[in-house]
Amino acid sequence: MSGGQGAAGQPGRRAGEAPPIVVSGMRPTGKLHLGHLLGTLRNWVALQAEHRCHFFVADWHVVTTDYEHPGEIARYSEEMVLDWLAAGIDPERTVIFQQSAILEHAELFLLLGMLCPVPWLERNPTYKEQREQLSDRDLSTFGFLGYPVLQAADILMYKANHVPVGVDQVPHIELCREIARRFNHLYGKVFPEPQALLSAAPKVPGLDGRKMSKSYNNAVYLDEEPAEIRAKLSRMMTDPRRVRRTDPGDPKDCPAFNLHTVYCTPEEIARVTVGCTTAGIGCLECKGIMIDHVLVDLAEHRERRRALAARPGYVREVLAAGNQKAREQARATMAQVRAAVGVGGS
Ligand code: SF4
Repeated sequence: MSGGQGAAGQPGRRAGEAPPIVVSGMRPTGKLHLGHLLGTLRNWVALQAEHRCHFFVADWHVVTTDYEHPGEIARYSEEMVLDWLAAGIDPERTVIFQQSAILEHAELFLLLGMLCPVPWLERNPTYKEQREQLSDRDLSTFGFLGYPVLQAADILMYKANHVPVGVDQVPHIELCREIARRFNHLYGKVFPEPQALLSAAPKVPGLDGRKMSKSYNNAVYLDEEPAEIRAKLSRMMTDPRRVRRTDPGDPKDCPAFNLHTVYCTPEEIARVTVGCTTAGIGCLECKGIMIDHVLVDLAEHRERRRALAARPGYVREVLAAGNQKAREQARATMAQVRAAVGVGGS
C-alpha cells in the first residue's frame, strides 16, 4: 500500500467540501531505505496538503509472512514512524496509527472475509508471485491468502476515497472495491469505493538495477554513514555499454541516472546527458555529481531524525494520539457495519 501520486495534479475541491480521505500503510520489516523515502514518504508528505490522510503501521500484515519470527516488529514500528516524522509526516494534520491497536480492523476483516469468494483471492497476482519469491517460508496459510481482505478492512474502515499505490498494487484496490460493492449490495450502502491514486513517484532502483529492497541486498539505508553511502552509490550499476571510459552510453539505460533525475539541477542533467552520450564524462565522476546531492538530503533527514529521537517517548505519544483518533472513527464505522449486517454490538 505504499507509493502514490503527488498532491499536485489532483482536481481542485469546491469551497466547503471536505478533503478527500487517503489511507495507506507500510509494513515495519526493517530499516527504511532511499526507495521508501523517495518512492513513498515524499509522496505521502505531498498528499497531506490536499487530503485527510491516515497512515498506519501495518504490523499485522508483517505477521502474514513472518509469523514464525515476529520478534522485531515492535522495534521496527517505532523506528519506522521516526523516519516518517523526520520525512515530514505531520501528526497534527495526519492520523498516524498502529493497525494492531485498532481491534476493529480484525472484526471488519472477519466480516468481509465471510462474503469474499476464495477465487477472488486466488487470482490475486501477488499471491502466487510472493509464494514463489519468499520460498524460504511456508505461505500456504489462511492468513496469507486472506491478506487482501485485511487490506480492504484497513481501507474501508476510514471510508477512504483514495489509496496511493504503485501499478503492482492496483489489483488489490480493485479487489477492495469489489468487496465494498458486494457488502453494499448485500447489506445497504456503508462504504464508498476507493480509487487507486497511481504513483507518479520516481523509480528508485537498487544498486544492482533491480527494485531497491532489503531482500535483494541492494539498498542504501537512511541511517547509513555518508562514507558508506558514497561507497555504495559509487558502485551503483550504470549503462552496461560503458565498459571503457571511451565507450559512449545513454542515460535512459542507466539505473544510477534515475537518481540524477530526482536530485540534480537541469544544468547538471544537461551536462551529464551530453557527457554520457559522447563519453565526455566517466561514470564515477558522473555519479559523484548525484551523490553529493543525496548526501546533503540524507544528512538533513538524519539530523531531523536525531532531534526527534532525542525527545523521550515522542513516537509513542504520536502513536497514542493517532490511535485514539483512528479508534473513534473505527468505532463509528463498525457501529454502522454491525447495524447493517445485524450481527454484534448488543
Ligand atoms: S555517464 Fe552517468 S548517466 Fe552515463 S552511464 Fe555513466 S553514470 Fe550513467
